[in-house]
Amino acid sequence: PHPAELERARRLIREVPDYPSPGILFRDIAPLLADGQALRATVEALIAPFRGAFDVVAGLEARGFLLAGPAAYASGTGLMPIRKAGKLPRPAASARYALEYGTAEIEAHDDLPAGSRVLLIDDVLATGGTLIAARTLLAELGYVTAGTAILFEIDGLGGREAFGDPALHTVFHS
Ligand code: AMP
Repeated sequence: PHPAELERARRLIREVPDYPSPGILFRDIAPLLADGQALRATVEALIAPFRGAFDVVAGLEARGFLLAGPAAYASGTGLMPIRKAGKLPRPAASARYALEYGTAEIEAHDDLPAGSRVLLIDDVLATGGTLIAARTLLAELGYVTAGTAILFEIDGLGGREAFGDPALHTVFHS
């Protein structure tokens, strides 16, 4: 995509102070999703470095789903939902991770052939806990994380360092 197109898309990400709790600056991608040109440009930018190198796109519930669907369609690949715990009829694997208060858990099915190359997608990278859990989950299922693509990386929270993948691809950062 053209840099000007991406810059326009970036400006559509809304900053909501003190949501969901005081001190958190929430990055709301809804206005970007609402704009056809911006959605197309950002989905293209998300997948560009990994073209041809993955068999399926995995999206993290819930906002990751909104990007993973179009990314899979644009790539001609399948789609794998990584869900919050308790929503799947027969989860094959789960991974637990720490939140600011308490823990969370994600689950997935094993509907892909062993060794499938997965492009992992989410909307925002903060501390990296979610992505690390997702990568662990994919490994537990016998899949290969072929790449990780995030729409918006929040700098200064150590997420990139914690995840530790030099090929981590983020379209925008703070
Ligand atoms: P983390 O595990 O700390 O990297 O947090 C990333 C996950 O939490 C992603 O699934 C995001 O959707 C969500 N998230 C964390 N911080 C924010 C934020 N400031 N704005 C929007 N989403 C966020």
